Amino acid sequence: MPRSSMTALAGAVTALLLVGSAPAASANSATSAGPHIVTYDAGKAAEFQAAVDAAAQVWNGQVSNVTLQKSAGGPADLTVLADDGWPRAQVDSLGSGTVWMGREAVSAGHHVPRIATHEIGHIFGLPDNRTGVCADLMSGASAGTDCTNDLPNEEEKGEVERNFAQDASIAPRLLAETPALATR
Ligand SMILES: [Zn+2]
Repeated sequence: MPRSSMTALAGAVTALLLVGSAPAASANSATSAGPHIVTYDAGKAAEFQAAVDAAAQVWNGQVSNVTLQKSAGGPADLTVLADDGWPRAQVDSLGSGTVWMGREAVSAGHHVPRIATHEIGHIFGLPDNRTGVCADLMSGASAGTDCTNDLPNEEEKGEVERNFAQDASIAPRLLAETPALATR
C-alpha cells in the first residue's frame, strides 16, 4: 500500500476514533459490528408458539444490541419448549439456551406474554429479581397474576445492552420460576 494511502487510512481511523469518543456513543462499542443475532426455534413450543414469536418482537423493539431471529430450520441458539411444570430457562451462555413455557404458571393465571419475555430475559443474561413490582420484568411471578407487563424496565434493558456490547460471560445456569408466596 502506498504511503499516501496509509496516511489517508490513518486519518480515517483517527476520525472514527474521535467520533467514537463522543459521550453519546461511548457506552456502545458494538455498534459497528451490528446487533448480535440470536436464532430461536419455537417449533416445539406447542400452544405457545405465537406468544414466543410475539415476545421476540417485543424484545427486538426494546433493545438494539441483540436481535432475535426465527430459525430457518438449522440448529437454533435458543430452543423453546412447552411442558406441564413451572416456566424455567437453562442458560448455556449469553444468548444461548433452552426455555420451557410451563403450563402450571399459565394455569395459575400468570400472563403468557410476560412469561415469554421474562424467560427470554434470562437467555439475555438477566437474573431473577423477585421484587413483587409489576414494572420489573424480572420480578416474574412475584408480581402476582394481575401483572400483565411484558416489557423490560430501563435498568433491565440497559443490562441486556451492556451484556451484548461486552459479550458478557454468563456461566451455565438453570433459572426456575416459583409460585409467588401467597399470604392468605
Ligand atoms: Zn425467572
